[in-house]
This record gives sequence, C-alpha cells and structure tokens, in this order.
Amino acid sequence: MAKQKKEQIKFTCHCCGQELTPENSRPVSLEYSITGVSHLCINCEEAYFEKLASVEGKSLALFHTCAAFNVPCKPAVFKNADYEKNDRLWIYYLDKLEESGEDIQGDNVLTFFDGETDMRRLFGKNLTYSDFSKYLAADTKMATLKQRQVWGTESIWGDMTMTADVYNALDREYEIRKSSFAGQTLTLQQENTLRIVARNMVISNYCMRQQQIKHAEALQKINDNLLASEQMRKKDEKPLEGYELMSQVVALERAGVMEDGQFLPVDKLQEVLFNRFIKGKKFDYTLDACDAMVEHIYKTMRKNSDAFIPSELPDDLQIEDMFQEFAQTENEQEKEAKKFIGYVKPTYSSEEGGTKEDS
Ligand SMILES: [Zn+2]
Repeated sequence: MAKQKKEQIKFTCHCCGQELTPENSRPVSLEYSITGVSHLCINCEEAYFEKLASVEGKSLALFHTCAAFNVPCKPAVFKNADYEKNDRLWIYYLDKLEESGEDIQGDNVLTFFDGETDMRRLFGKNLTYSDFSKYLAADTKMATLKQRQVWGTESIWGDMTMTADVYNALDREYEIRKSSFAGQTLTLQQENTLRIVARNMVISNYCMRQQQIKHAEALQKINDNLLASEQMRKKDEKPLEGYELMSQVVALERAGVMEDGQFLPVDKLQEVLFNRFIKGKKFDYTLDACDAMVEHIYKTMRKNSDAFIPSELPDDLQIEDMFQEFAQTENEQEKEAKKFIGYVKPTYSSEEGGTKEDS
C-alpha cells in the first residue's frame, strides 16, 4: 500500500506491534509525520473504523476515521459503488481513493484537509442526514482538489457560492476556448488568459441570470480586450491556420473522394477512384490508330528477322479499350497521318493475310 520510499528503519504498528510493511500500512503526508508511514497497521485501522461504525453508523464513522488518520474524506469515490455492503469498508475506501487517484497528488500524500472537511455539507445543516446516500443522490459532488488548486477557493464574484457546478462551469468554459486552438501550442501566458476569460464568462453568465446586464456586458468587453491583447481572437488568426486543412478537404470533396468532410467508404472510394482517375480518355488518337501502330511495329520486327507474318496479331498484342482511354473519333491530325502513310484499316481477313513474306 505504501507508495513512499521508506528508510531501512523498521516501524511497528502502535496497536498490535506488527511490523509495518508496504502491504499492511499506508503512506501519510510528510507534513504530519517524520516516518511517512501510518502509525497503525491497516487491520488495526479497519478495526478502529468498525468500532466507530458500530456506535455511530458507517457514514459518520468514515468521516471520523478520515479525520483521525488524516485521510482525505471524498465520498464521491463511492459513487456507483455498493459500498455499504462491503464488510471491510475502511480498506475498501482506501482502495477506492487510490483507484480514483484522490489519495496522492504528484509526490504529496493528500491529507484530511484536501477532502470534505465540513460535516454539514455531508450530513446536512443539523446533521440529520443519516447516510452518504442522500448526499450522493443530491449530487453535491465536491470540487476536486485540482479544480480548487486551479481556480482557487475564494468566491469569484460577490456572494457567488463556489459549488462543484461553478467549478465544472469554469473547466467547461476553459476547455471550450482551448479547443479552438487545438493543434497549436499555447504559451503559459495564453493559457492564463484563457483561464481569466473562462472565469469572466462564468461570472458574466451568472450576472445575466441575476439580471445584472451591465455587468455581464462589461465582462464580455473585458474578455474581448484580453483576447485581443494576446492576439487570440478569431480575426487574429494567421491566414494559414484556417486555410490549410480546410482547403485540402474542399479539394478532396471536389475530387469526389470526400463527402461532408468524411472519406467515402472503401468500396465507394474505389469506384470513384476508378471512374475519375483510371477510366477516361488518355490518348488523343483512336484505338484504330493504336492498332495500326502496333501492327506496323509488329510486322516490321517480324520482317526484319525473316519470320512468318501471321494474319492476325497475337492475343497479347490485341488491345481492348476497357477503360475508354482512346479518343472516340479521329481528329484532324490522325486523319492527316493516316492519309500520309496510306493507311487502310486492317481487317486481318483470310484473303488479305496469311501470307509468308519471304525475302
Ligand atoms: Zn496493528
């Protein structure tokens, strides 16, 4: 269980005397302990919790045990967990805390003061809540330590209460703004500006709800000035930033391989690639002219080597225009060329061919 590095010195449980090991002890904040290890073994802590639970119920006992052993009380880690049925609830709680990363921040073991310290928030003003279940059902999830560290715990505006909802709104406003700079590296200064802008947005929304329109407008103006000073407004964008990817998408859409910013499915894409880039005219002359050229070359080669000249071109020299690559009609240049060589369309009929041209 213990995550902190321990010295060679051995410690024992203050209650049962068993030697404390990483497996049966718990790291504690060095702010409150020179050993960095819990003073009880985990079984003795569990026993302490169970004794408390038998007199005041599991929920209050959990709060008190957290206070007694300097562990953050964060009931939210039990959300969606059937915690009450667990018969070793304290150990289960510590595991949940560790699982949610709520037990340690960086190198620092968190303490009771990093969790919910106000009983009235957990159990109601008059401590009438008998269980965490109501607290959890009411969704009064407390702000995380990180949220409190980033945004502070002081009210951001007059009498506005810093509820978890406010912290979540701050995170959300910040993330929304940050997302419009996706792919860009923001400087610390820019990130800070976005945080201030997010905070002002949350306050502005609050003022709107309170009918304090003037305040809301003033805050929006401040935000605009802040963003302008960091050149972070939409209109400050360098032309390249908005241009690159979109222009590629547009080009691909025009080429027919993308639709609504998405690539076509593979089978459709193949069809488009075939029709647009493979099928289609590639030669200015007709298949007829191509045949004539092949025939002349073939005949000349055979003639030069004193070979038999068959009446038909062999199969592998017969061209089929399967991709419609040849011109459908002959152009003037082709007509001229044919006239010049006295070309007559070959028919390869038996009366014309089949001759052995001996030299
Ligand atoms: Zn012990």
